[in-house]
Amino acid sequence: MKIAITWDYELFFGSRSGTVDKCMLEPTKRILEVAEKHEVPFTFFPDVGSLLRFQDLPEFSADLHAVISQVQQWDALGHETGLHIHPHWEKSVWENEAWRHPMEYYKLSDFTDEEAKAIVLKYHAFIQNKVSTPILSYRAGGWCVQPFSRLASAFDECGIRYDSSVFKQGKNTQAPYQYDFTKAPSLPFWHFESDELLPVENARFTEFPIASRMYSPLFFWKLFVLGRLNPRDHKGIGNGVPAAGGGSKFDLLTRAHRLCVSVDGYYASKLQQTLHRFEKRQEPILVVIGHPKALTHFGLSRLDAFIQKNKEKHEFVKLQDLK
Ligand SMILES: [Zn+2]
Repeated sequence: MKIAITWDYELFFGSRSGTVDKCMLEPTKRILEVAEKHEVPFTFFPDVGSLLRFQDLPEFSADLHAVISQVQQWDALGHETGLHIHPHWEKSVWENEAWRHPMEYYKLSDFTDEEAKAIVLKYHAFIQNKVSTPILSYRAGGWCVQPFSRLASAFDECGIRYDSSVFKQGKNTQAPYQYDFTKAPSLPFWHFESDELLPVENARFTEFPIASRMYSPLFFWKLFVLGRLNPRDHKGIGNGVPAAGGGSKFDLLTRAHRLCVSVDGYYASKLQQTLHRFEKRQEPILVVIGHPKALTHFGLSRLDAFIQKNKEKHEFVKLQDLK
């Protein structure tokens, strides 16, 4: 099986964005150490919108410089850089030492077709300019890739070939999110033209869906309790607050949820079990999502053990090498 570990590299979008140092630089340094130890490549999706805004603000010039250095470091080490777009940065305001993010512009579909295309091209040009390898992969901010049809021509223009925004059976229509993947085909990956859920042979684009699974209420009870009992292992390195809309605590604690297979915090406890299920079903690929901002000591050690245990039997690859 080919396994791609992918990282959305960004700040938080809630009431506190956290610092670049704690949400991006420090956890990513740890992640790169794990990659180096096992000689495996990862795929990073830097949130370009934030970097473009850092350019305007003198107080972010050191952060911007450090982030670009880190991007160039992973690029030189052979990791993949993909395009990740959180377009609300176009409208975000830096005020009283804090970012205020207008959630009514959370996704590209909140902009006009022309605006959305211009954002894709601008963000792509910025990040492509920083790395030595062509950018081929895309992940939508907050999984909000729909409708894909309005992105296709911009992606064509900048050479994006692979999308990894879909997770099978995923659905969230609570603002600011808007995605419904319940009609995703039951294929490990597929080619498509303008609808990311409609397989078309020999089409321009390929969807490599993020693996998903059910998480029981018990899982979330453990997640919340462990964070309190053992903050050293289970509290995130990142120091911000997530945006609302990811589901209420009550909801998570009372019914099962289908969510992504992830390296984030306690989610990493399910990596090995998920791999076993994929092995049994003879799945050819496994795509795992992670966020440096949500990295915990527990998650990092589980990731280390997961790669150690499986690197001989399976192949850890960049997203673009999943085919
Ligand atoms: Zn993101």
